[in-house]
Amino acid sequence: MQTIRGTKDILPSDIYKWQELYLKAIEIFNIYDYLEIKTPIVETTDLFLRSVGNNTDIVSKEMYIFSDRGGRALTLRPEGTAPIARAIINNKLYLDNNIQKLWYMGPMFRYERPQSGRQRQFHQLGIECIGSNSPLAEVEVITIIKQILDTLRCQDYQIEINSIGNKEERIQYTKDLVNYMSEFEYDLDVTVRKRLLNNPLRLLDSKDPKIQSILNKAPILIDYLGKKSLKHFTAVCKYLDDLNITYKINHKLVRGLDYYNDTTFEITSKKLGGQNTICGGGRYNELINSLGGPNLPGVGCAIGIERLMIIRDKIDKISNDKKRVHVIIQSHKENQKGLEIITKLRSANILFHLELEDINIQKQIQKAIKNKALCCIIIGENEILNRTVTIKWLKGKFQETVQEEKIIEYIKIKLSQIDRY
Ligand code: ATP
Ligand code: MG
Repeated sequence: MQTIRGTKDILPSDIYKWQELYLKAIEIFNIYDYLEIKTPIVETTDLFLRSVGNNTDIVSKEMYIFSDRGGRALTLRPEGTAPIARAIINNKLYLDNNIQKLWYMGPMFRYERPQSGRQRQFHQLGIECIGSNSPLAEVEVITIIKQILDTLRCQDYQIEINSIGNKEERIQYTKDLVNYMSEFEYDLDVTVRKRLLNNPLRLLDSKDPKIQSILNKAPILIDYLGKKSLKHFTAVCKYLDDLNITYKINHKLVRGLDYYNDTTFEITSKKLGGQNTICGGGRYNELINSLGGPNLPGVGCAIGIERLMIIRDKIDKISNDKKRVHVIIQSHKENQKGLEIITKLRSANILFHLELEDINIQKQIQKAIKNKALCCIIIGENEILNRTVTIKWLKGKFQETVQEEKIIEYIKIKLSQIDRY
């Protein structure tokens, strides 16, 4: 049996990199006082129809929709922001505090063509800063993501930023864009023409060189922004400048979800091939209100963890080796003594691995070497008679007999001098 197409097992040999991300990210979230939230993986289909938008790629072709045994229309969440907006409304979190600073990490589901950096079940680490219309909210969110990337030593990434203004500005712009593009209608294929009807803004970030060359002379969204929108965008850019955060303004950066307004941003990496976006986000001032909640603006973004892990693998090989001892019990007659010794190790917080495979002692030692253990604690018949254990140091290739009551003290001293062994 195989995993479903586009899904992957994350094996123990890889998961420690995920744990590293998780631990380092938590430290950073803690500094900025962002709290974790976990929402269900399944939601009503309606939630995404009403938030992400009917004509977006996600809703029109990527969602895992099914009906449960009670006939409810459900969807495996394709993204994290709409569920969080729903959770804020359902749980009336805003009554407690008008500002909610949240983060999440978990699986998302999109029915896409699997390829490197693109899966059907993938994972996102995301943050949402809800309740503020201040440009400082964008700046905080971008700073946190940047810190996560820097802490993981991801270099060669680029932050791109744009403003897509408010709804009226976008409507006016879209009208003019469609007019302009219609002149080239006969050069455009069916999917592009369809897009021109359904979601013309998305044409801006088309990768098709023909479209991009047509767009060279198209009207530019930023020229349609009024004073207020421009002021907000300029402030976001200025604060980023103040913090010496390097970014590039990309006037064609529109995002694939309907709920964004004003600021949109993406982070791309040269270390990735075709799927080079590691993080996408933006401001969403109408989302919570449109789902029936109060008028709460927000800013958020999400990192694609699989893509981040591809970059991590290219940067350096982090080591998962721990200072661990390998406990070898020679025969079942010594089991009880073995358990006593393990209990002592555990109480002293010494990391160990109890060998359970029924093989001869030489093979057990070979396994310890393969597992990169520092030493083997061997408990056999003679040792029990003498109330000792044998400790074999694998790197130094020597062994010592240690009195049972001195084991912990002995190992601790040795571990503190470990580089010599
Ligand atoms: P793309 O243009 O690559 O499809 P997107 O705009 O659909 O990305 P978002 O909805 O903004 O992506 O999601 C944020 C991040 O989640 C992306 O930048 C990417 O790193 C990651 N991501 C999105 N879809 C997938 C997927 N199918 N597999 C793996 N990661 C993904
Ligand atoms: Mg996509």
